[in-house]
Amino acid sequence: MGRELRLIEGDAAMRARLFKQGAAHKYAHGHALVLAGGLGLTGAARLAARGALRVGAGLVTVAAPAAAMPECAAQLTAIMLRQVDDADALAGLLADSRLNALCLGPGLGVSEGTRQMVTVALAVQRATVLDADALTAFAEVPEALFARLHPATVLTPHGGEFARLFPDLAKQGAADPGRPPAARAELVRAAAERAGAVVLLKGAETLVATPRGACALNDATGPRAAPWLATAGAGDVLAGLIAGLMARGVDAGAAAETAAWLHVEAARTVGPGLIAEDLPEALPAVLRELA
Ligand code: AMP
Ligand code: MG
Repeated sequence: MGRELRLIEGDAAMRARLFKQGAAHKYAHGHALVLAGGLGLTGAARLAARGALRVGAGLVTVAAPAAAMPECAAQLTAIMLRQVDDADALAGLLADSRLNALCLGPGLGVSEGTRQMVTVALAVQRATVLDADALTAFAEVPEALFARLHPATVLTPHGGEFARLFPDLAKQGAADPGRPPAARAELVRAAAERAGAVVLLKGAETLVATPRGACALNDATGPRAAPWLATAGAGDVLAGLIAGLMARGVDAGAAAETAAWLHVEAARTVGPGLIAEDLPEALPAVLRELA
């Protein structure tokens, strides 16, 4: 204990991060790639993709297996689609270095195929968000994941996913909502140091730690409470927001912090009754207010 736990706020630094680029071509705002699961499992990736686009990525592509292409195409218009059936196809797609931020995990499934795709994505050393099944797929072998991570990676576990990757830290109460954030922060820092990546541990009091020991709190309790944010798909939108910010060139730690803050602001703008689809749609109002 004792190290500083910063509170994430919509301050001048965040405004500078979000609005520093003036009029520029869409290609100057980056290109995020979101991987989708199979037929009937693409909703999570579609939510992430809309988050990435709304937060200002210049271009967003969803990569989906052949069978899931029509499902994606029917739902997404401003978002491009590419067919990716396996890790080899993903490697081929990633030969295009303009795809500068990657989002893997939502709806991908817990399988060897997911592990292979994550491995291929990490090998190109671009800004990468790993969420949901991209984390759970390594539950038996977390060290195999940690060995491949690099500092431009953000892991976005909820408490259960965190416990699968860091069982010892979870046992000490890292994700226990009854414990004060300052006490949990030391454990999330330890996770980020072990992983060699940014770790964003989700909850009403979300903590964002970097491998260099910084830790920040996104407080969605008290006056900023938004319990209706705990709804299906909300986490997938968050992963997309982080990827979108990283596509725009925001570094991993700042992207995770900024996305977490915007996510709660969007939820507060909508209020009770919120569904995950509302979050990307509420973002322009949040950004307008902040600008
Ligand atoms: P996931 O577990 O991936 O679906 O993500 C859930 C999202 O809801 C995360 O962004 C959490 O930070 C957020 N969340 C969970 N519980 C609460 C809560 N009580 N108040 C505000 N946000 C929450
Ligand atoms: Mg989730």
